[in-house]
Amino acid sequence: MIAFYQDKIKKAPDRVSLKAILIQAHKHFFNDYDASSPQVYFAPGRVNLIGEHTDYNGGHVFPCALPIGTYAAISLRDDDKLSVMSLNNDEGITSRSMTDIIEDKTERASNWASYVHGLVWALSQHGIDLKSGADILIYGDIPAGSGLSSSASLEVLIAYSLLDLELDYFNSSKKSREEILTMIAQISQYSENKYNGMNCGIMDQFASAFGSENQAIYLDTNSLAYSYVPFDLGDYALLVTNTNKKHKLIGSAYNDRRASCEEALKDLTSIKPELDALCSLTSKDFEEISSYIKNPEARIRAKHAVYENERTKQAVSLLKAGNLPEFGRLMYESHESLSHDYEVSCDELDAIVNIARTIPGVLGCRMTGGGFGGCTVAIIANDSIEEYKSAVEQAYTDKFGYAPSFYILKAGRGPYRL
Ligand code: ADP
Ligand code: MG
Repeated sequence: MIAFYQDKIKKAPDRVSLKAILIQAHKHFFNDYDASSPQVYFAPGRVNLIGEHTDYNGGHVFPCALPIGTYAAISLRDDDKLSVMSLNNDEGITSRSMTDIIEDKTERASNWASYVHGLVWALSQHGIDLKSGADILIYGDIPAGSGLSSSASLEVLIAYSLLDLELDYFNSSKKSREEILTMIAQISQYSENKYNGMNCGIMDQFASAFGSENQAIYLDTNSLAYSYVPFDLGDYALLVTNTNKKHKLIGSAYNDRRASCEEALKDLTSIKPELDALCSLTSKDFEEISSYIKNPEARIRAKHAVYENERTKQAVSLLKAGNLPEFGRLMYESHESLSHDYEVSCDELDAIVNIARTIPGVLGCRMTGGGFGGCTVAIIANDSIEEYKSAVEQAYTDKFGYAPSFYILKAGRGPYRL
């Protein structure tokens, strides 16, 4: 039956129809034809335009939320059972007691339902206890594990929808909407860090929570100060290419990179005790004191973080001044640094960026997200899109034996109830 609903969803012409299908599927799988209609929520994925691996180094990032993301059809229950299922896999319904999750008695397995359990647990760790259970049906239209942050969109979705549906939190709490969204981003990150064991920074969750149509988000991850920057590209498009690479070992490598940056910061505080984060340094400061970082590998990782942070600030100024070509050039520079200094790229990502460089209509292209696979993001002239697609498709398929996929995307809105 999952295939039946997946097929129906793929043919849905708009979100209104999609909502109706998700309600129908929810009633079907949870057998709750008597219950009042479940509510449907959405939270977006994100693509990072520039500022990669800076968000756990107190640096700047520049992502935008996407029109693709994760949906949930949810109804509350009278008991404390939390039942979840996803239309993106065939695992069926997983049920746990809310009390067991909150008291941390539920096994933290590396299955997808742990992302939902983690959020319930993380909310309670922050003093927000959800009393009643829920039946939750999930569907995502982000290719999972592709670096477009399906995980953050799932986390933000669960936090947002449970706070809204169960606690009417946006009306009942004294916090402003902005404060609640910040809290949702922080609790979602906490959940992924502490429950799922992935030491990600705040960017993904913040971008999902604060998404805004046709605007990118310029975020200082040290202070969480942010501003929106218009991101409507006119004759150009935002083009994402998915490598479709199957196996990538991101979790441990990501945590290794983070540990190297922490090591570098620790060494630098011997000469600069007041230094709170690598990205508080300018590149000039860094060059003066980088020799205090003992381990050459930690030094080169730190170099990326510092220069990438500077590039991000510069890129945003250029975009605001309407200088898209220079913005694009910095995207290429970012990729070089990620590939050579931070070493989180891979042959597949490098191949796409190298082909992009040969097409004059591409202003810039870089890997986006954690790396080792996933997607590239490019800014490309509308009339070069076909040339790019056929060049990349052919060369990539010849080299790796399978095809990439392409998505033309726009900056999209944050979480909401449909
Ligand atoms: P990314 O965030 O880049 O997409 P991650 O590896 O961080 O990749 O997160 C992907 C994981 O999130 C999936 O393996 C799955 O456990 C979970 N997930 C995300 N979206 C869904 C969904 N719609 N249904 C089930 N699980 C999902
Ligand atoms: Mg993720």
